[in-house]
Parts: sequence; C-alpha cells; structure tokens
Amino acid sequence: MVFLYQRKQIAVDSENSVKLRPFPFPFRAGVAICSDIDFCDKRTFIAVHRYLNTENYGLGLPVADSFFGLGREPDQLAFFEKNGATPSKNAEFIRQAINDGLIDSLHAWGDFNKVPPNPTILRNMAENLTKDLIAHDLKIKIWINHGDPFNYQNISARLWPEYKGDDPELDYYTVDLLKELGVNFIWRSELTPWPLSGNLKISSPYIWPRLALNELKNAIKIILQKKTRIRTASQITELALPVSLKDGSQCFAFTRFNQYPGGVWAFDPNRHTLRYSLNDHSLDTVIKQEGYIVLYTHLGLPFNVQKEHPFPPEDRDALTKLADHYHSGRIWVAPTVDLLTYWLIHKYLIWNVHTERDCRIIEIEAINDPTLGSRLPIESELAGICFYTSDPKNTFISLDGRRLKTVIHQPDHTGIGCVGVPLPAPPKVDLLDN
Ligand SMILES: [Zn+2]
Repeated sequence: MVFLYQRKQIAVDSENSVKLRPFPFPFRAGVAICSDIDFCDKRTFIAVHRYLNTENYGLGLPVADSFFGLGREPDQLAFFEKNGATPSKNAEFIRQAINDGLIDSLHAWGDFNKVPPNPTILRNMAENLTKDLIAHDLKIKIWINHGDPFNYQNISARLWPEYKGDDPELDYYTVDLLKELGVNFIWRSELTPWPLSGNLKISSPYIWPRLALNELKNAIKIILQKKTRIRTASQITELALPVSLKDGSQCFAFTRFNQYPGGVWAFDPNRHTLRYSLNDHSLDTVIKQEGYIVLYTHLGLPFNVQKEHPFPPEDRDALTKLADHYHSGRIWVAPTVDLLTYWLIHKYLIWNVHTERDCRIIEIEAINDPTLGSRLPIESELAGICFYTSDPKNTFISLDGRRLKTVIHQPDHTGIGCVGVPLPAPPKVDLLDN
C-alpha cells in the first residue's frame, strides 16, 4: 500500500504515521550567521573564525563567510588585484576557504562604494573569477548585494532602484555568470527584525499585527506613488521566495535578520553589535516559532583586529548563549548555504511511504523546486532531513531505489522518535591554524 504525502501533511493512517520533522534532530530552529566581508583582511578573518568555528580556541560553531572579487582597501579579502585579472595574495586562501566551507557567499563581485564600477573591468573581472572557480571545481550558491547605491552591479532590489546587475540591456549585467557559478540564492537587501518561516498561524499575535502594519504601509506607498516599494505578506513571513530577475531567470531571494535599537537599517551591524540581534528574546522566539534566522552582520568590522579578543565581552556572551543552544540541541547553527538548502529541500520535498515486509520505506520522489523545476535531489542536499515515525529502527529512507545512510534518533520533546539523514559536515578549520 502506498501513501502519498507532501510537506507537513499528517499521515492518513495513524498506525503508519510518518511525518517530516521541521528541523534536523534534535534541533527546533535554525540560525546562520551571514557575514558581509566589508573591510575584512585575512588576519581578521582568521581571528574571528578561529573563535567562532574551532572548539580548541572558541565556540565550535559552523559559520561561513563571504568574499569579494575586487576590493577597495589594500588588505581587503578580495580575489584579484586592482586590475581584476591578477590573482591577489589572498586568492589561494579564498579558494581553499570555499573548498573547506568557510566561505559560501559572493559579496556582489566587489566593493564599489562611492565610485560605480567600470563596466568593462567589472565584466572582465567577473568572467575571470567565474573561470577560475570553475577550473578549481568550486561552486558558489549565494550572492549578497553590497553597499551604497553606486554598486550598480547589485541585483535589482525593492528599496534600491540604482541596482542594475540583472538587466540584460545594461553593461552591468552579470547574472549569466552567476548561473555558471551555481548561484541560486540571492540577498536583495531585505531585512526583518523577526524570525521567518516558522510554524505560526496567521492569527498569532506575533504575526497579525505585523501583517496589518505592512498593509497600512503598503496603502501609504500607493498613495505616495511608491508602488515599487510595496512588501508582500510573504516577504515578511518567509525566509526565501522564488523570484524572476529582470533577465527572466529564476532564483530564490532570501531575507536576513537584524535587530538594532534604532531600526534594522540604523547602523551597519558588526561583530561588536551581535548582542542586539542575538539577545535572549530573539533566540527564545526563534525556538518557540520553530523558525529561521539568517543574521545580517559584518564580522570583519570594526577594521583591524590587534591583540585584543576580536569580540567584546557583551558579544562574546551573546555568542556563547547561541553556542549553548547549539551544543544542547535546541538551535541548529549552520553556514548560510546549508540552512538555505535545508529550507528549500524541506519546503519542496515530495515523498511517499510504502511497506515492505515489516519495514517502512520513505521514498524520496522529487524536489518541486519552483526555480529549477521538479527534479530528483542529490544525496548531499538531503542532509539533515528527518522523519518522525513510530518505528525508527524499521524505517528507511530511499533515493532513486537506494537506501540512504540514516541515523536512528530517540524520542525528542514531542515524545516521538525519528530517522534522519546525517547533518552536513561543518566547515573544516585547518586554514585557521595559520
Ligand atoms: Zn557589504
């Protein structure tokens, strides 16, 4: 007998009940620290990640970072020299960090604050970088817009009409190269001060006041003839949404999280302001809502780590509490690429259950990916996927006719056991011993 299920659908037969768990076992929420590489040199990168990522020197948190193709300051962690063709002294370090999972995001090809990029230099540099990474068998799945309105290479955004990077009619167009690099998630400068994609009902007091306020703001924008600035309800409740770029290509646009006393855009968040976003209330809320936080920050700022600890005591406290949630199995801390990939696979997974002798087989049918089309996932994309089942020992997950390596888990806070695909491996930390 075959039962067909989709995401979050309760099994029709309670005896054979199998249900997708919201997060990898034993976690109840997901947080990624998503850092823009502005003003970060290699020395700061190493000091910051040695504390964040390693167990010997710090917190043992799986955190990744971003990089520039072209920098503006002499020591910025950028792949090329100013000519956009000669690999910089940091190029090999960046390649290795991408390979090891310490870098998972491209920060808008480069830093063009104050002076827009020269289109020819931009295009050549972007082509050089794409060729180099592909030649080294490296993929980048995440693009993050950067900086002020002079960064014309950024992907068009609701709040920034100056950005032109996805308009194929203009010289700043580079989306064709992003596709070659493997980019499927883009950050188009959207922020919220609350967790997203949780299990909240629309009637929840966490949600409906926000939706009502958003509607009011939208009405005012229409009156002021600023229709392009309207934010849909989904944009303030979902971690990511499928979007069409100006060249017609599809990808996911994700929203980051920031809390700062003066508002989300009041100040460039950095490693000395983590205390405002990673406060007790934020972390308790993301667990309660079983939601996601992709945290907006600049771990390289303030510039230039000297001998002192890279994080002030208040921010160290905030990070230590996050690490405690992670090591105690409450909050899954993961590189941005792993958290977004998990969100996508979990949201669009199609599966069924059938019985063979005394065993339940969960057959992965497809990912109904609205950007790339329905497809069979590869095994690594299923990392962390867990199913509740009344008989974990005799439940198996199968992909393309092959049983996957799974882990059996004891009952969690719900009292039900589960079976799951192991978590993605954390970033390697060998580079941080330099
Ligand atoms: Zn930036």
